[in-house]
Amino acid sequence: MRRKRILITGGAGFIGSHLCEKLLQQGNDVVCLDNLFTGQKDNIRHLMDNPFFEFMRHDVLQDIYVECDQIYNLACPASPIHYQYDPIKTGKTSVMGALHTLGLAKRCHARVLQASTSEVYGDPEVHPQPESYRGCVNPIGIRSCYDEGKRMAETLFFDYHRQHGVDIKVVRIFNTYGPRMRLDDGRVVSNFIVQALKGEDITIYGDGMQTRSFCYVDDLVEGMIRMMDSDDSLTGPVNLGNPNEITMLQLAELVIKMTNSSSKLVHTPLPQDDPIQRKPVIEMAQKELNWQPTVSLEEGLTDTIHYFKKILEFN
Ligand code: NAD
Ligand code: UDP
Repeated sequence: MRRKRILITGGAGFIGSHLCEKLLQQGNDVVCLDNLFTGQKDNIRHLMDNPFFEFMRHDVLQDIYVECDQIYNLACPASPIHYQYDPIKTGKTSVMGALHTLGLAKRCHARVLQASTSEVYGDPEVHPQPESYRGCVNPIGIRSCYDEGKRMAETLFFDYHRQHGVDIKVVRIFNTYGPRMRLDDGRVVSNFIVQALKGEDITIYGDGMQTRSFCYVDDLVEGMIRMMDSDDSLTGPVNLGNPNEITMLQLAELVIKMTNSSSKLVHTPLPQDDPIQRKPVIEMAQKELNWQPTVSLEEGLTDTIHYFKKILEFN
């Protein structure tokens, strides 16, 4: 059997680089496409010598011509500070990126997987969130460029599937963390760890009672690959995340303890439309993909803290 040719948009980002690595390990031919907005060459430097790996600097706003068997569409900034930096471009990236990867999948008869998000549920009124929940999203707020962009991408995926028979897979990813997040990523796990390691104040937005459920990146990547390789009939959307829910205050205390830090907690205003609670129902992934997270928060944080310690030594 010949190697599968797999295109990963956003492949030089945090999740994308782990996905490139795992798919290469499994014997595939991987093309990593990225415009390096939030991604970094450092994330994929160790893959560059592999003859079955190619990096392509490209923006998904432009047409994509790469012959391939499978496409993972991850291109889109994911941290609120980065997707709010140029919100118009964020919306375009989700929508045009979906159109271009779907068009490519149609032409090449490739299977295409969309990295959607728990943000399609907005600030959820149903808790925990099953795939059947339609969400509570503000269409005109500061998070909308991302949330509505991702919702429109899901719509395009299902319309290409119904109208053109494109082979689609949609996963809704819940908060994922791990090595290769940027020092300046801005999301909570990296912020708290970097602040704790530097002995700086830990910034709790609002009262810190809002919750999230954190999934370690290796678990997520395993779930994404299982979804890509699942039966034709399973289009999704399928939630991928770790149902272990904690408050941001509990997370801050855990990080302080694990880093043995003297940092103090400071409260700053809660950003607009920040979801109060979030936890995935993962029964569909358990049943259809035989998948569930295996890495505990303590184990995942240990690896992530180790990574940031090394990065800080060189900065
Ligand atoms: P990330 O910012 O590290 O990765 C996104 C990648 O996309 C970066 O490498 C960036 O340079 C690239 N990119 C952005 N705009 C592009 C464009 N116009 N053309 C080409 N490349 C572009 O974020 P991540 O956490 O690795 O997220 C990857 C994907 O997973 C995103 O689509 C995100 O929405 C989704 N997701 C992530 C999480 C999470 O918790 N990490 C949760 C839900 C969904
Ligand atoms: N948060 C925080 N301090 C920070 C960064 C984030 O208290 O330094 C909070 C943020 O308000 C949110 C939660 O942590 O309630 C998760 O934020 P993140 O940006 O990681 O992801 P998202 O809000 O997209 O789930």
